[in-house]
Amino acid sequence: MGSARKVYAGELAIGGGAPVSVQSMTNTDTRDREATLKQIIQLADAGCDLVRISVFDDACAENVRYLQEHSPVPLSADIHFRADLALKSVENGIHALRINPGNIGETENVKKIADACRANRVPIRIGVNGGSLEKDILQKYGSPVPEALVESAMKHVRLLTDAGFEDIVLSLKSSDVKTAVDAYRLAAKACDYPLHLGITESGLPGKGTLKSAIGIGALLLDGIGDTIRVSLTGDPISEPAAAKEILRAVGLRKGFRLISCPTCGRTRIDTVRIAEQVEEAFRDIEKDVTVAVMGCVVNGPGEAREADIALCGGEGSAALYVHGQYAATLRGDICGQFIRAVRGYLNDLQ
Ligand code: SF4
Repeated sequence: MGSARKVYAGELAIGGGAPVSVQSMTNTDTRDREATLKQIIQLADAGCDLVRISVFDDACAENVRYLQEHSPVPLSADIHFRADLALKSVENGIHALRINPGNIGETENVKKIADACRANRVPIRIGVNGGSLEKDILQKYGSPVPEALVESAMKHVRLLTDAGFEDIVLSLKSSDVKTAVDAYRLAAKACDYPLHLGITESGLPGKGTLKSAIGIGALLLDGIGDTIRVSLTGDPISEPAAAKEILRAVGLRKGFRLISCPTCGRTRIDTVRIAEQVEEAFRDIEKDVTVAVMGCVVNGPGEAREADIALCGGEGSAALYVHGQYAATLRGDICGQFIRAVRGYLNDLQ
């Protein structure tokens, strides 16, 4: 799974077989250090392993020390065009950089950043984006096709490796799912740097999450990817939850999994309400558990066999299954009894 190489952002390992980590980015003004720190802490509490912040002027770079010192997770400084901000951020203790070395001017600047990052064990993410490809590459390919994204990434990579720097992470983002997936697949064949997966500008949380799940999920199922960000328009706090859900869906994270049937004319219990209440009660638990809520006996017993604990609707009652075995018939407050049964099951796991 993932890349052969491993880098460290602070204590966080990325690549080389490390668990796939979750990232997000603040949308506060980084010059407001209290608002930014508050959001960093919220994102960390929501499950982010690393948080990126925009560093776009001297005041932001000054705040890096305070933010990194008070942050519970490693921070990555997102910098465009200004080498001095990258150097200042490294000096102030940032744990990772996101900068494209081709966009910061002189080769001398690249060398200075590479030297500073090497001395401080700071990895650099090169983030290629279909919307901001170099003119010459766009002219060569005509549009931001996957090959163009990879060529751009490798051009930036060479600037760093020529400066003797190898702690590189790559991202090749596009708002088009297929373009991004194909670009990452090509990059995984072309190099062994850790890959940061994401579908950029994917939109509002509903459709954006779907697009990200398709793209990131397809790559993870291929064994490609070391760290992920679900980019959504809105409060970034919804991003880590979506990312963790993708990781659980592809079997890379433990936690709560709900199997519930779509309901149909055969449904004899309030499957929707029970599923909603079960999800609400248990979605944040860390323990690895699969709970099934099924409306009737057509698919219920089959799913119950695969779940740790399951409910299968009948006429005015429901059958409770534990480890695939029939355990009891529930009547009356089926939802309440089932939630208590799940809670009891989880307590017994301790
Ligand atoms: S499990 Fe039963 S109620 Fe649920 S969708 Fe299937 S047939 Fe319908």
